[in-house]
Amino acid sequence: MKLEEKIPRRAEVEDLLARCVQCGFCNATCPTYLATGLELEGPRGRIGLIKSMVEGHAVSEKTQHHLDRCLTCLNCETSCPSGVEYRRIIDIGRAWMKDCIPRGIGSHLPRVMLSKMMAHPIGLGLGFRVGRWFKYLLPSAFRPYLHPPRRLNLALSPATETLRTVLLLQGCVQRHLAPAINQALSDVLVKLGYRVVEIRHADCCGAVGHHLGDSETAKAQAKKTMRALHPYLLDPTLQGDQAPIIVMTSSACGLMLKDFEALYQEDLEMAEDAKRIHQCALDPLELIERHVSAIRHRIDHAGIKGLSLKIHEPCTLQHGLKLKGRLAALFSSLGFEVSQGVAPHLCCGAGGVYSLMNPEMAQSLREEKRRHLGLEGQGDAIALTSNIGCMLHLDSKGEVVHWIEFLQGLFKEGR
Ligand code: SF4
Ligand code: SF4
Repeated sequence: MKLEEKIPRRAEVEDLLARCVQCGFCNATCPTYLATGLELEGPRGRIGLIKSMVEGHAVSEKTQHHLDRCLTCLNCETSCPSGVEYRRIIDIGRAWMKDCIPRGIGSHLPRVMLSKMMAHPIGLGLGFRVGRWFKYLLPSAFRPYLHPPRRLNLALSPATETLRTVLLLQGCVQRHLAPAINQALSDVLVKLGYRVVEIRHADCCGAVGHHLGDSETAKAQAKKTMRALHPYLLDPTLQGDQAPIIVMTSSACGLMLKDFEALYQEDLEMAEDAKRIHQCALDPLELIERHVSAIRHRIDHAGIKGLSLKIHEPCTLQHGLKLKGRLAALFSSLGFEVSQGVAPHLCCGAGGVYSLMNPEMAQSLREEKRRHLGLEGQGDAIALTSNIGCMLHLDSKGEVVHWIEFLQGLFKEGR
């Protein structure tokens, strides 16, 4: 099918594509290229496919297949010496594909369901409950997401001196599968003196729809999140150096918050809020690392003696938010011996909903990552990560946990 007349952002993408000199350095860090050795399974090949679409050449299911197989891990963006913004190119390419190549029902239905379900928290909660009942009838790729939710019982320490206001967005999947993670962040921030406001009436930030190339759903979900934050952005007591800090505990969602600005840059009604959210959004890591010395005195390492501590920095943290090495550095500076294992830059295969759509590739990357991290056959090892998708995908028996939950558990009683 030709799509020449259907390209709405031609100038933008031509400009982005022009920066690629086709040197192929990026292929060396691309998990799907490394796994298959195929040019079209690497960033240079995918960029070539999108370029060919822009030039008006016919596109087919083959193009769709190779774009679908990209994890959007952005390793290629980090390794590109020419500064090619691969993320923007693949986002535009996927949006075109959605309009131009119809999908078979087997591929279309799960995508629509996943994308739309995120917009309906009640339906999502119900979906997880029903999914747990019928867990063993569903494809094995779904099972890591169907464990009973873990919960924490916390006794919050009162704040001594109130620092800034933190707006904590709850996320969609996480509030059903691991609400303890948000509770842990809230608890640690309160201990450090922050005023934490939990924003409950926002649903999915739009990351899932965005990842699936469903930009309409992603924009609608992002808009709902922005509306939930709007009153705080206007609050006269939260301006200047008292501006709120906006956090989400999943680094994939945090990256999406940063992307609101690009998503809404041409929307006069939303652009201003999107820009402020971009400025106010921080990954929890950026917040906690400001308090290393205070935390050092309040945590207890004794309980984890002899435990091998591994750090898994998700692609969204290292390549998306550009915080590579900072999670490992945080735990090092808190006095832990940490290891990131072999090839820490490589994706674990979770990739948002990638593991549900491409289970074989995801599984092979998972096994490789577990081996690289030293989680296979090494006795007492625990891996810390910053993204619920990676956590559930990599975990086998509770040894992969969110770093904030781990840190919260180390605080000495009453501190
Ligand atoms: S994206 Fe960057 S590294 Fe990859 S081929 Fe293009 S210029 Fe080279
Ligand atoms: S985003 Fe990841 S999987 Fe996709 S082309 Fe780049 S390195 Fe490869």
